[in-house]
Amino acid sequence: MSYDIILRGGSIIDGTGSPAIQADVAINNERIAEIGNLADATAASEIDVSGLVVAPGFIDTHNHSDGWVTQTSGQECKIAQGITTELLMSDGISYAPVNNETWREWIYYLHSLDGLTMHQYGGWHSLQDYMEFTAKRSHQNVIMQVPYANVRSLTCGWSRNRVDDVQMRAIQREIRAGMEQGATGVSTGLDYVLQCFSDTDELAEACSVLNDFNGIYVTHVRYKKGLIPAINEAIEICKRAGCRLHISHLKGHDPYPPEVVLGRLEEAANDGLDIAFDVYPYQCGSTMLNFLLPYTVWEDGPTAAMNHLTAPSFERVFEQILDDYRLDLEKVIIAWTALSDFESSWGQTLNEYVESTGKSTGRALIDLLVDNNLAVLCVVDEGDDHHVHPYLQHPMCMFGTDAIEMPNGKVHPRAFGSSARMIGRMVREENLFSLEEAVRKMTSFPAEWFGIEKRGQLKKDWFADLVVFDKQTVIDNATYESPRQNPNGIHLSIVNGALVYQDGVVIQHDEAPGQYLRCGVE
Ligand SMILES: [Zn+2]
Repeated sequence: MSYDIILRGGSIIDGTGSPAIQADVAINNERIAEIGNLADATAASEIDVSGLVVAPGFIDTHNHSDGWVTQTSGQECKIAQGITTELLMSDGISYAPVNNETWREWIYYLHSLDGLTMHQYGGWHSLQDYMEFTAKRSHQNVIMQVPYANVRSLTCGWSRNRVDDVQMRAIQREIRAGMEQGATGVSTGLDYVLQCFSDTDELAEACSVLNDFNGIYVTHVRYKKGLIPAINEAIEICKRAGCRLHISHLKGHDPYPPEVVLGRLEEAANDGLDIAFDVYPYQCGSTMLNFLLPYTVWEDGPTAAMNHLTAPSFERVFEQILDDYRLDLEKVIIAWTALSDFESSWGQTLNEYVESTGKSTGRALIDLLVDNNLAVLCVVDEGDDHHVHPYLQHPMCMFGTDAIEMPNGKVHPRAFGSSARMIGRMVREENLFSLEEAVRKMTSFPAEWFGIEKRGQLKKDWFADLVVFDKQTVIDNATYESPRQNPNGIHLSIVNGALVYQDGVVIQHDEAPGQYLRCGVE
């Protein structure tokens, strides 16, 4: 028997949580052809993986890869982590669906999060158009959710007005279209543009469509309102809509200890709600600096926000907000700015930056935002990493990176280190769970939850998305000071049977091996 690839002598962790077994793995075209003793078989490419683990490729359930996966050069920082599938359109904001009026607004708003610039717009409108455009270019598989703010801007414009009956039907039609095109559910980010104006009634009514698809309401909850009230709202939306609940990048926030937060979710699960959440294995966060702006600036859409910022009275309003948030400027670090003139500020705290300008705090930060067309990315020091451990250990928890990559940026190390950290630190050093369980949280659990067919497990005839790593040495190298470091110990990544990463090198293909996966549809 002859195959395209045989991985010989590895320790197979199949993704289900079952203990590792010794076996060879054969790949033909894009599928796993055989798992077992293949001593008598040959292959065009035979790779000795003895002493190493062979596992299903990792699935990143929350990220900001939407721009990067459209770039044929590939996302090295993710491929080098063994991440073979990206769930796009997190936080309710993305590059599709759009129309001729809204696409510029979204590219403008998302510049410091998802990376695209105007000239990279490929003419797509629907989610399907965008995903087909992406799959031709991506080294990784892509799956989608329906980003709620895009849908609301498409059907209702940017206004904070309540959605009327006609608009609600238009929103529901768009969500239905997205689900029919293979979305796994609806995503929201209720602290971000436009959705900050959506109330509980609106979201419950819009998401009632998901009931027909066994879809998921995937939410960055209203953190600015406090974690428990925000979680309560998410639970209410799903109960009324009759859909499953997924909470994005869950983490502790004062004043709620993990027992209270996790206890609330367990209580809702005991009441019959289907719930899961994702966590990235760090306590510190990262987001756009414009996250701090008052919601009123978004009332006429992203590009019009500039008019609010340049009004003379705005400095006082913004200073008040900084006061109200009690934000410690010593704990917010500038990671990246749209203008390279500001590159010397990358890595500075906001305090250091403000001092270097000689301006007042409000003036300095407003000018920073205005000069960069609102595109400034930050990393926020939220304390000790041990705080995330109870969340990571929880049976409802799966893996997500929330990675935000910006070329040369001093980005959050989660973009480079997350999966290796789940194994090297959380399994080997902290003993939070077994290696098999860590792999399950990154593979079969998300695949089953989001409805990704024939992936997330190593099984004969399933798709050949694989990672090969050394369980003794795998470790993240990315730090806050020096984030742009690939991990140690991850040797191979394979997507749909194509080798995309081997021992430190991304392998380019003429035809990008990533595919647009339609959830729940084979
Ligand atoms: Zn978020």
